[in-house]
Order: sequence, then structure tokens, then C-alpha cells
Amino acid sequence: MSTALITGASSGIGAVYARRFASRGHDLVLVARTTQKLEDLAAELRAAYGVIVEILTADLIDATQRQTVENRLRDGSPIDVLVNNAGDNSAGTIAETKPVDLEKLVTLNVTVPTLLAAASGMARRGTGTIINIGSVVGFMPEHFSGIYAATKSYILTLSQSLATELGSEGVHVQAVVPAATRTAIWERSGVDANTLPNLMEVDDLVDAALVGLDRKELVTIPPLGDEALWQNLESARHGLLGGLGGTKPAERYRLEK
Ligand code: NAP
Repeated sequence: MSTALITGASSGIGAVYARRFASRGHDLVLVARTTQKLEDLAAELRAAYGVIVEILTADLIDATQRQTVENRLRDGSPIDVLVNNAGDNSAGTIAETKPVDLEKLVTLNVTVPTLLAAASGMARRGTGTIINIGSVVGFMPEHFSGIYAATKSYILTLSQSLATELGSEGVHVQAVVPAATRTAIWERSGVDANTLPNLMEVDDLVDAALVGLDRKELVTIPPLGDEALWQNLESARHGLLGGLGGTKPAERYRLEK
């Protein structure tokens, strides 16, 4: 039996991951702040699929509460699939957002997935899957104010680094890169999702992400029809690498004498 730990499992994308992994026969550890929602979902999944479901109520921004999740990953029975899904957005500009709120966003979107991946112990065991939920916003920082885009860009880079580091140890890493998806995140950030021009249904998003997972993709971008567009971007990035190894500043940066 395999066990999946899903952060942000009380609603939206995380709750659908919970349903899908339960339907595939995985036991679950569900993490979020709202105990009642986790309990309701756990009861539903136990009844429907006969799987074992633990719940861990934790505000992942709080270091002490986060520690309980890290401890579960590190010291409990092995977690085979970690879904780093809990996240928040913020439409506020960097100037109008309080430093404490900037710090909370970076903690939830950047620090938490990093620490949970580290705590998973998968490299040591030589097996496991880490799924990190990014966002297409990471590709388009010009179109969004504040730091949300930067935090989601980190998720892609983190996933690529971890895939290189842990792939040879038998751990599969997948970055899932959703576009606008119908969940409560929009309402919480003051946006009526129905006004968005393109909105994916959350079931469709997770089902597509799981197709990518089953294909062992490193990066899954559910709304992207033309895979060549992504491959071209990666080729261009790899092309850049050849120009980054100079021991002296490039000619164009030398002071004129
Ligand atoms: P959602 O429905 O609001 O779900 C967010 C989940 O994270 C909830 O279960 C929430 O549960 C949990 N959470 C939030 N803050 C937390 C904290 N401090 N500690 C523990 N759990 C916390 O939103 P969603 O759209 O499914 O978001 C899931 C992920 O998808 C996020 O990383 C988001 O950035 C990403 N994403 C979403 C979209 C979209 O359009 N929806 C697009 C691209 C990427 P509690 O409130 O119970 O804690």
C-alpha cells in the first residue's frame, strides 16, 4: 500500500488530488488548517474507497505547526507521494503589501514545499514521488503585481533541481503548472472567478496532471496544447548555458579605455 500526503487538501486542487489518489487505492495524510473540512473529506474517502486517511491540522506558515508535518514525513510510516499543493496568492503590489504578509506568502509558497520535500526522506529510501504545484503566472511576471509570480517561478526551478538531484536516487519529481482554475483561491483574493476569460474546472486540471504523472513528466502544463512551445523555451534556456561560463566580463561590459 502506498501513502500520499497532500497539503492544502481541504479544498480546491488538493481535495481533488485526495479523491483521485484514494480512488487509486492510496492511503492518505491530509493537511490543512480547517479540521472540519479535512474530517468531512476523510470520512467521504474512507467510506467510498476503504482507504486509511489521517488528518493533520496545521497552519504551515507557523514553524511549530509545520514541524508536526515534517515529523510525520520524517519519522512516521513512509510517505510515498508528497503533493506540495497548499499555497496562496496575493494581488497586492510589493509597495502596498505589509512586510509580514510578504513573508507569509514566501513561507507558504516557497519555504514550506522546500522543507517538506527535504523532510520526505525519499532520497534516503530511494523511492517516492514529489508533486509541486506551480502556476503559469511564473512564466508571466509582467502581468501580475507583487511576488506571487516569483514564488511560483521558484516552484518550477525547485522541481527541476530536485529532479536532477533525486532522479538518480529513484525519486520522481513533477511540477504541475496550472492556469486559472475554478477554486476558492479566487474568491479569497477578491476576484470573481466567473469574470475570468479562461477558467479550467478543477477536476479537469487534476486529471490532466495525473496523465502527466503517469507519463513520468517532469513538467506538466495542463492548458498547453502545443508541447513544442515548452520544449523551445527549455532549448533556449539550455542554449544560454553555453554563454555563461566566462572567466572575464564579456566584451560588452568592459570599460572603454
Ligand atoms: P484553494 O481552494 O484556496 O486551496 C488552498 C488550500 O491550501 C486549502 O486547502 C487551504 O486550506 C490550504 N492552505 C492555505 N493556507 C494554508 C496554510 N497556511 N497552512 C496550511 N494549509 C493552507 O486554492 P487552490 O486553487 O486549490 O490552490 C492550490 C494550489 O494551486 C496553490 O498552490 C495555488 O497557488 C495553485 N494554483 C492555483 C490556481 C488557480 O487558479 N486556482 C492556478 C495556479 C496555481 P485551509 O484554508 O483549510 O488551510
